[in-house]
Amino acid sequence: MSTWNAAKALEAFGLSASEVNPGVFDGKEWKASGDVHEALNPSTGEVLAKVQFGTKDDYERCAANAVAAQKEWQLMPAPQRGEIVRQIGNALIEKRDAMGALLSLEMGKIHAEGKGEVQEFIDICFIACGLSRSIPGQVVPSERTEHALMEIWKPLGTLGIITAFNFPHAVWGWNAAVSLVCGNTQLVKGAESASLVTIATQKVVSDVLKANGVDGGVAVLCQGEGPVVGDAMCRDPRIDLLSFTGSTKTGKIAQRLVHERSGQTVMELGGNNAILVMPSADIELALRSCVFAAAGTCGQRCTSLRRLLVHEDVYDELKPRLVEAYKKLPYGNPLHPKTLVGPIHNKAGIELFERTVQDAQSQGGKVLVGGGRPDASELPSEDLANGNFVQPTIVEIDPHADIVQEERFVPVLYLCKVKSFEEGIAINNQVEQGLSAALFSTDMREVFAWLGPAGAKQGVVNANTSCSGAECGLAFGGNGSTGWGRECGSDSWKQYMRRSSCAINFGKTLPLAQGIDFS
Ligand code: NAD
Repeated sequence: MSTWNAAKALEAFGLSASEVNPGVFDGKEWKASGDVHEALNPSTGEVLAKVQFGTKDDYERCAANAVAAQKEWQLMPAPQRGEIVRQIGNALIEKRDAMGALLSLEMGKIHAEGKGEVQEFIDICFIACGLSRSIPGQVVPSERTEHALMEIWKPLGTLGIITAFNFPHAVWGWNAAVSLVCGNTQLVKGAESASLVTIATQKVVSDVLKANGVDGGVAVLCQGEGPVVGDAMCRDPRIDLLSFTGSTKTGKIAQRLVHERSGQTVMELGGNNAILVMPSADIELALRSCVFAAAGTCGQRCTSLRRLLVHEDVYDELKPRLVEAYKKLPYGNPLHPKTLVGPIHNKAGIELFERTVQDAQSQGGKVLVGGGRPDASELPSEDLANGNFVQPTIVEIDPHADIVQEERFVPVLYLCKVKSFEEGIAINNQVEQGLSAALFSTDMREVFAWLGPAGAKQGVVNANTSCSGAECGLAFGGNGSTGWGRECGSDSWKQYMRRSSCAINFGKTLPLAQGIDFS
């Protein structure tokens, strides 16, 4: 049994179960003046704590302080900023178990995945620390005598971060660690239903800044409603870059507003991810990957497997094994070490799950396993009776059915038969989203064709491993309606900086480019 419970997890971050917790840190004090919201435990329906949201006035204060703090922060040598970000990583190592537990309690993911989410923040802190000593620029040859050409990178200003409910902690870190090192300050608005994790994360970050004598305005939080605080961030020209993670529908609204004012965005939106299994595949490997990718986090990862495309030669072998594996999935309290599937995040998710199963059936789909809600006798303990539990579901369906083209953020996996590798690629690519995809094949020609120009079109393209999750050393993000954003490692840092192309004359004459004579 887990040693974590709500009281202990809240206490680890100085959060109160009885008093209202302010959701706004303006860089100087914790003070909010908006509505009070209840943070719910999706496993039990219990109220974990209360959080007061920010108003437009609170937002104004936060934005002004973040912009003001940037003046000094940008002048601090990047390696010193990197050292502070490294300390944030160390502070999170201390809090990994507690933050992981809070994620289980508020978001609903199992504790192992909660701790994994914290680990992602830790890892990117250390990547960013290394980056702080190696932010590159280049010198290129000039066509003019006694001239030098240089490209240098400077901070952008202030970053706005809007997070989704399913990764309220890691998404913060993927953006913040790199951006802080690049010399930007930040204003965060977390998903409403992940307010406790959002506040807890802010506390860890703010404590490290304070211990280093840094202006608290470097990282401010205005927790609040999307149409209030989120909307204000989109419209505010002081937010130089908006990093938005969430559904494609909301993301498009946010993107339009930011682009109307010529601001920049990093958009990390919905996925509709596929795995293609070919006859040469290691079926055991494919099976385990598919179960994790589709049922893990109760189907609520942006990279969750939604479309399983199986070649007809191995379809009848894989299908019954998959159904059997689903029947054995242990669901229950996400803090319990034996649980693999926790609850769906909220009541709206249950309603969406039920509608998705109905819609799939009305479009010719056949439910192979799951399809409903577990009855009380199937749940491991009585306190879960009011929780948002649904049965991870597999629906056998035509891959061209309308519903298969959509992202429904629930644990419903579409199982589809394909006749050839080429058909598998075409179906994989036919959706408007472009986040992640994986191939299972031991035929190297197929593997490289899959990775190549006529292969999978997604931002994350794997072979013989799951389409779900990613390592932060690479740039993470998708194409198409997933939004083209890139976060984390590789050269993602470029998005958080301003590029200057510089020509320097160190001679006594004035030769012009392209040999122009203007005398
Ligand atoms: P959502 O779109 O409902 O909400 C996301 C955020 O947008 C929240 O913080 C919300 O308050 C805010 N928001 C709402 N209205 C707004 C407005 N008018 N202006 C500005 N902000 C506003 O998404 P969700 O349900 O929290 O998250 C699930 C979705 O996120 C899924 O589609 C999932 O695929 C996607 N997601 C994508 C990635 C990725 O990296 N591509 C990662 C995690 C989640």
